[in-house]
Order: sequence, then C-alpha cells, then structure tokens
Amino acid sequence: MFWPERARRTLQGTILSRDEALELLMSTDDDLLDILQAAFIIRRHFFGRSVTIHVIKNVKSGLCSEDCAFCSQAGSAHTDSPQYTLQTVEDLVEGARDAHRLKAMRYCIVTSGKAPEPEELDIICEATRQIKKEVPIQICTSLGILTVGQSLKLKKAGVDRFNHNLEASERFYPSICTTHSYADRKRTAEIVKASGMELCSGGLIGMGESLEDRVEMAFALREVEADSIPLNFLDPRPGTVLENFTKLTPADCLRALAMFRFVHPDKEIRVAGGREACLGSMQVLSLYAANSIFTKGYLTTPGQGYEEDMDMIAKAGFHVTDWTAA
Ligand code: SF4
Repeated sequence: MFWPERARRTLQGTILSRDEALELLMSTDDDLLDILQAAFIIRRHFFGRSVTIHVIKNVKSGLCSEDCAFCSQAGSAHTDSPQYTLQTVEDLVEGARDAHRLKAMRYCIVTSGKAPEPEELDIICEATRQIKKEVPIQICTSLGILTVGQSLKLKKAGVDRFNHNLEASERFYPSICTTHSYADRKRTAEIVKASGMELCSGGLIGMGESLEDRVEMAFALREVEADSIPLNFLDPRPGTVLENFTKLTPADCLRALAMFRFVHPDKEIRVAGGREACLGSMQVLSLYAANSIFTKGYLTTPGQGYEEDMDMIAKAGFHVTDWTAA
C-alpha cells in the first residue's frame, strides 16, 4: 500500500476498511515515515498545524469500587496513588483558572468511581455554572457511568463535553474489567450523545489486546460517533494487575495513532496518557497524526511539563489552537 495515496482517497470520502486498518498496523518500521506522512495529509487538511491543549484535574482520586486492570485507582490495585474525596466548588473553579492561564481550550474534570453520587453531581454542576460565568474555557467532565437524568443535568449546567472511553474492543473488554461491562460503557456514550453534549471517547492500548482488537475499537468509536478520541498507551503502574507488562514501542504507538487518523479523519485525536512513557524522544512525531494533547500531566502520573510541551510544539512548526479568536 502506498499510504500517502490512500490518504488522498480518504479525503475524497473513502474511509479505510478494517482489512486496510489492520494492514497499516502490521506494516514494518521501514514504512513508518510513509504512514506518518499519510496521516499528516489528513490531519493537515482538517486541522492545519494546530494543537489543542487540554488540562486534566483529578478532582476525586482512588477509593474506586471497580477493578479496571490498568488503573492505579482501582480497589484491586495496591498502589500509593492519592486518595481523596471530591474537592470543593472553589477548588474546581480555581482549576479552570489555572487551565485558562495555560491557554487550554478545554478543562477536564475527572472523578474516580463507577458513577457519580447525587451530591457529587451537584458540586460539579455548580462549579460548571461558576466557571462558565467567569472563565472562557470549554468544560469536559469524566464521571463514570451516567443515567439519562444525570446527563441532561450536566448539559443544562453548561458542560460542553463528557468523556467516557470504550477503553478496548468489545471482545477484549472482559479481560480488563469484570465489575462493569462494555455494554454499560457503550450505553453511557449513547446517553451522552442523546443529551446534546459532545462525546469524548477513546481507549487504551498495550494491555495484551490483538491488533484486530485495536481496529475493532477504532471502528466502534465511529459507531458511537465520538467527537473527540483520546488514545492512551499503557504505562504499567506498580501495584496494578498489568504492572509487569512491557510498554509499547514508539513505532507501535505511532502506527496506532495513524490508523485512528485514517478511521476518524476529521475528529479531534488526542495523544493522551503514556505519551512520554511510551514514545519518549519520538513523541513529537505523534503530532503528525494527533491534533491534541494533555499538558501538565495525567490523572495519577506527571507529564514532561508544560514548558517542554510548548517547546516541542513550537520547534516542530506546530502551534497551539487559538480557539478564543474563533
Ligand atoms: S478506570 Fe475509573 S472506574 Fe476503572 S478503576 Fe479506575 S477510577 Fe475506577
């Protein structure tokens, strides 16, 4: 396959087939630059050289009833990651101010746990109302499994987007979580869309899934009409079930990002958790497929740092999206 030519056909409306997506993932390192060039042709068409910045705040950490194998906040994990209950409205508003100072387009409020408690939802809705009055920033929340009523309440409070990752393929999902199901996750994604919020939904690779599973997850995210897709790479955390897993190679991460760009040509694709840990010195190449990053770290792990992220973006000839000028 000559991938840059395939990218041009994608721009004419011919989406990659599952077989082609698998072929891309199975390509050799000798083809990597062709693949990245192809992904960049698509990325540049829809997003130019802009990079959207997200800042995430873990507003309730640990203490989770669920057993997600990758997660250091899982009840089944034996880690020293922080444990605290939901922060205050003022804490959440201050986080938005911080994110805005960093030129973030979106502030992501995240809680651990299977689903939000009613009083937690009230705090998040109140913080959202205050942020919307004071800070020019978009708000994403990631609070677990939602009911229809909860989703409508968040939308009414002003939440722009809700994150709920599919995490893996339907086939592989039971291998990484037994306390809730893939169907539960898909249902929340559907509820979010129906309530009128944007859906942020992606997944995590490097957990022992097959290349076919990665393709299936990419196409499942088309089915749920994800508007934004964070792709995470397992950074095995001590004390979790997956602690002894080997990290993906940079080339595997880049192939996956390129495949996602082909399958979701015009969607926001975020090179998310595990960027620094798995891509290392090659992380700048991820920007040729992805158009979005988290800066200032992740839920329980630090990133390389805001200054380093900005330096990386500028030196590679990209620029931070100035969404307030739109
Ligand atoms: S991913 Fe979320 S639901 Fe799963 S264990 Fe971690 S905090 Fe709990």
